[in-house]
Amino acid sequence: MRLPVNGLIIHVGEMVEGEMAVGKTAVLQVDNSRRADIRRNHTATHILHRELRAHLGTHVTQAGSLVVLDRLLTFAHGQAVGKETLAAIERDINEAILANMPITIRHMGQKEAIDAGAMALFGEKYGDIVRTVNIGNPKPQDAYSFELCGGLHVSETGEIGAFRFVNEGAVAAGVRRVEAVTGRGVQALVSERFDLLDRVAQANTHWPEPETVDAVLADSRSLQRSWSGYSGKRRMVSLTICWANCFGERGAGAGGTGKRG
Ligand SMILES: [Zn+2]
Repeated sequence: MRLPVNGLIIHVGEMVEGEMAVGKTAVLQVDNSRRADIRRNHTATHILHRELRAHLGTHVTQAGSLVVLDRLLTFAHGQAVGKETLAAIERDINEAILANMPITIRHMGQKEAIDAGAMALFGEKYGDIVRTVNIGNPKPQDAYSFELCGGLHVSETGEIGAFRFVNEGAVAAGVRRVEAVTGRGVQALVSERFDLLDRVAQANTHWPEPETVDAVLADSRSLQRSWSGYSGKRRMVSLTICWANCFGERGAGAGGTGKRG
């Protein structure tokens, strides 16, 4: 979909079969499951925007977004968002999803909407009558989120299913970008990670508990240090000792409980 000028919406499609001509009838079909993904991602952007401002400060403004299966949101913020803050933002976003808040779409005068506190994206052009998207309490001043937006949305936040960050980084000075997945994207990510853990568990004969992983990593680092500290024949001796330490004792010792978390 493109919006070349105010009031004109252009839908971009792909011709799968036949040919098009003036006067001919065409069948238009929307890919509903992709559209549902877009709805989930887009409403999640509004929730994300709201939580970024709540956690990082109201200076955070969305600097553009790209609504695709794997969501990206660019926002203005001077420094990296720490792991703990990102985890807290993610937790609150999932709380907002579980609260199953209604989404209300309304058209109103631009001034009326801005006066009622609607967030408008910097640099966007808006007409006299604007479309507003309200999450939570239908009263704009009591809403969880209230933005000017022409995009596709779910009816209730619960439809988003779940939200998970996959990346946070800088794109330019003072501009950060977060990447996240929702709904089916989270399901795919969770299965992928669990499959990986299953493969690690099979290779180690038990489920990798955090302590076991830490112990194996510590052994690996010590092995690397020993390796770089020795040369020639001594390297062989050191490697033999480390091999016995890492693999000989590991099988019997720091094994974890074998339970799946
Ligand atoms: Zn929007």
